[in-house]
Amino acid sequence: MTNILKIRAHHLLCIQGFQGYGYSQDFVENMTEIARNIDSNPESQIITECDIICSCCPHKVEGVCQKRLDSAQKVKDMDLRVLRKLYLKDGTRGRVKDFVSLANTKLRNSFDVHDICGDCDWKEKCLWFISV
Ligand code: SF4
Ligand code: SF4
Repeated sequence: MTNILKIRAHHLLCIQGFQGYGYSQDFVENMTEIARNIDSNPESQIITECDIICSCCPHKVEGVCQKRLDSAQKVKDMDLRVLRKLYLKDGTRGRVKDFVSLANTKLRNSFDVHDICGDCDWKEKCLWFISV
């Protein structure tokens, strides 16, 4: 059970939109490795707190996102919006590709994409955002 991939809900979308940009070299290398790992469809758990992607982000400080003063709550709210739209509970486990498929079935429409990603700084560089 230690190999379970913990991923915050909105990162199910970000990982698909990743084009090699990020907050630091470490962040990009880690994200690249995770994207590769997802191909093997590991067991995963959907969470609403810092995850394996945040683990190499310079904005993770003392276990929470501190990109801006209000980021911890805003990012959590983004995760909760994704969970609500997918009818999933915080902490749900399953194969990561099943969650990705579910997200792509339910959320690939202009309203939901803008509702979830509206405040994100990476929109112009995110394939998941720009390809809707
Ligand atoms: S626009 Fe931002 S929040 Fe939305 S999927 Fe892309 S990187 Fe993630
Ligand atoms: S900006 Fe915040 S939510 Fe995004 S990866 Fe970094 S720590 Fe995680």
